Amino acid sequence: MELRELGGTGLRVSAVGFGASPLGHVFGDVPRDAARAAVRRALDLGINFFDTSPYYGGTVSESVLGDCLRHAAVPRDQVVVATKCGRYKDEGFDFSAARVARSVDESLARLGLDYVDILHAHDIEFTSLDQIVSETVPALRKIKESGKARFVGITGLPLSIYPYVLDRVPPGSVDVILSYCHYGVNDTSLVDLLPYLKSKGVGVITASPLAMGLLTDNGPPDWHPAPEELKSACRAAAEYCSKKGKSITKLAMQYSLMNNEISTVLVGMNSSKQVEENVAAALELSTSGIDKELLHEVEAILEPVKNMTWPSGIQQA
Ligand code: NAD
Repeated sequence: MELRELGGTGLRVSAVGFGASPLGHVFGDVPRDAARAAVRRALDLGINFFDTSPYYGGTVSESVLGDCLRHAAVPRDQVVVATKCGRYKDEGFDFSAARVARSVDESLARLGLDYVDILHAHDIEFTSLDQIVSETVPALRKIKESGKARFVGITGLPLSIYPYVLDRVPPGSVDVILSYCHYGVNDTSLVDLLPYLKSKGVGVITASPLAMGLLTDNGPPDWHPAPEELKSACRAAAEYCSKKGKSITKLAMQYSLMNNEISTVLVGMNSSKQVEENVAAALELSTSGIDKELLHEVEAILEPVKNMTWPSGIQQA
């Protein structure tokens, strides 16, 4: 598995990253044996980057990921573990300095770790971005100084949140950003922001190459926020691939992995089979390249919904 530098952090992360939200049962139940096997298989195949959050499954994802990493007995310095703060299933959003400080301690206890490699403020568009600038980022910096997190980041859906915050905090305050659903076969809007992020020295993580299940044969979960037009176009693209005996999931994975300016592509996985398929897609990309004919056909199907997204967060002043 290819390792890529993550911005200026010095971390080298696997091009395919393990999104652990499915371990919180957010895409359906995952038996503990299957979760442990998926994480073990990921490690064996060279995946070293794992992403979770207290929000996923109301803390379940963090606890299960911690259990799976302990069960795999992987040396701590061989894995890069990211979690988040500020978004909670029961409490909603709280990006205050006090809550963020408490949150990291709770996460470390659930994960069974002394430190996380990355701590993100999770989905910052749900609070005033000025609070993120004046209170949350300074709180994250304190946590970094304490050694409980090696690096800090911000996540969210609307791309405008990133320059808003990065232009207002001292240089170097935010090490990485995590963008989702904006670098995939149906939506490439993150690409316009890459030169800016590079100029700021900020590492780029992209998530949800399968558009949170839209680009799979099984389709999205009930809670998926996409408009019906986008859902049906993705369904049509998946069916088209399936009729040709091809996999929309493989194509979508490979597409997101093609841009080397993005350090890692976080894909949510709940079984060793999915791990094997997604790693195989990455390896095939590096040896044979993407199936260009299929890509053009799928892009044509998705053209009417290109870069279509959905509202997320509060109206910013
Ligand atoms: P995704 O696009 O990675 O899709 C996940 C879905 O695809 C799951 O149902 C999974 O079981 C399925 N899948 C994975 N591999 C498959 C395969 N080979 N064949 C068939 N189905 C397959 O969406 P995601 O899980 O939401 O995103 C990935 C990760 O990124 C998350 O787990 C999370 O860690 C992170 N993330 C973070 C944020 C944020 O910080 N705001 C938002 C979204 C995602």
